[in-house]
Amino acid sequence: MLKNIHIVLIGLALFILLQTFLDTVFAVLTTLVVLFSWIAFNIFSVKHSLFLKSICRIRTKEKVVFLSFDDGPSDQFTPVILDILKRNNVKASFFCIGQHAEVYPDLVRRISSEGHRIGNHTNSHNWKNAFKPSSIIEAEIDRTNNILFDITGSKPELFRPPFGITNPSIAKAIKGSGMQSVGWDIRSFDTISKDPQKLVRRISDKLRPGSIILLHDNREITSRILNELIETIQNKGYKIVSLADV
Ligand SMILES: [Zn+2]
Repeated sequence: MLKNIHIVLIGLALFILLQTFLDTVFAVLTTLVVLFSWIAFNIFSVKHSLFLKSICRIRTKEKVVFLSFDDGPSDQFTPVILDILKRNNVKASFFCIGQHAEVYPDLVRRISSEGHRIGNHTNSHNWKNAFKPSSIIEAEIDRTNNILFDITGSKPELFRPPFGITNPSIAKAIKGSGMQSVGWDIRSFDTISKDPQKLVRRISDKLRPGSIILLHDNREITSRILNELIETIQNKGYKIVSLADV
């Protein structure tokens, strides 16, 4: 995977190449623009990131998809979501924030006891941490793993980077933790969506075998659409399975 030293070398190579047909100032400017655009694309695209390999879709020809819920547990909506999953006999993955897990340990226990997979979504979910040294991210990961271990008795194996942001520091921290990074194939935008019907359609139109769907269990709209979403997915011939089953 791409490290800081590779970025410097690529920048240097690009500059040397551009200098052969541009004057030095233009070569420097063009190198910087290309390099920064390319780095930004890799930082903010969990699917295409060259910094860290994340599982965003399971390679399969079978019509199976995976539900994942981030940012909980929430005392308001996680219980509603768990009730709907239970009623439909569907297992999902919950990427919990350490600070929330600490406040609602009973909800974490319930997620675990009802057969769902629990992953680490950092302790504070602070986007600024992504741009701090890897030791800060390592501490966030460790703290959350310890909180989740104390509650459930098992250490999470999956990690989801907050906001899908990845960079060499995050990659180093995750590699050191021995965890597997999990992204998504379908971003639902349930954090900003106001229209339940549009939200269900946006997700169901993008389904393909192996898709991992990103949802949030701290959003009212997600709890409102979940039953219909499950029915729509199943009516399209897809089975919803757990990441633990692959
Ligand atoms: Zn998040």
